[in-house]
Amino acid sequence: MRAPFGVLALQGGFAAHAAAFRDIGVPVREVRRVAELEGLAGIVIPGGESTTLLNLMRDEPWFDGLRRLHDSGAVVAGTCAGAILLSREVRPRQPSLALLDAVIERNAWGRQVDSFEARVDAPALGGPMDAVFIRAPRFRALFPDVEVLARYAGEPVLVRQGRVVACTFHPELTRSRGLHRYLAGLAQTRRRGLVGLDRNRSPSPPPGAVPSFTERGARTGGHGWPSSRQA
Ligand code: GLN
Repeated sequence: MRAPFGVLALQGGFAAHAAAFRDIGVPVREVRRVAELEGLAGIVIPGGESTTLLNLMRDEPWFDGLRRLHDSGAVVAGTCAGAILLSREVRPRQPSLALLDAVIERNAWGRQVDSFEARVDAPALGGPMDAVFIRAPRFRALFPDVEVLARYAGEPVLVRQGRVVACTFHPELTRSRGLHRYLAGLAQTRRRGLVGLDRNRSPSPPPGAVPSFTERGARTGGHGWPSSRQA
């Protein structure tokens, strides 16, 4: 039987993610205990509130469990708060799984645009897709192994590093199922071993290593994303 895709169901938008996978015929498991990570093809850490998620994750060894799941070859994806939990460095500083070599800043779109809907440009997923941004974070730096899968206003909003996928918006709140299809496909491809996704995550950059572009944008308020990179 096909291994199910997990959705971390501690807090936030897990029900809509589970429904999105069911819509496209992918078996789903809502995961509330670390033991339920066993045998998953992948997992989505949904949007919600990363601080609340971190608090709820204190009850069990979630970080160990999720890292082990990743090491076993599963896809680990995060949307919005989930992307925050995956990133190596979070601003303002808070603990994270550090499976994605990125710097991310929480609630970084400013007050007036705390929440908005937009079309994002996602050539890697077959074209533009609808996106809902809710008190969304922004990537402030990506290390060289991180591939940009979608952009909004020139900024990366969906990225992948090996089997780790992170998205700053809520794809599950729209009718687009492109990301869920992509995740299921990535997990299947990985299982069949058809492409070179099975190399382990590249070694972590040493502390203080310089990201692939300057963080000038983060300091000046501009987005600072060179369009030459992974356009
Ligand atoms: N602002 C939230 C946080 O910092 C994320 C918002 C979301 O997941 N929609 O965790």
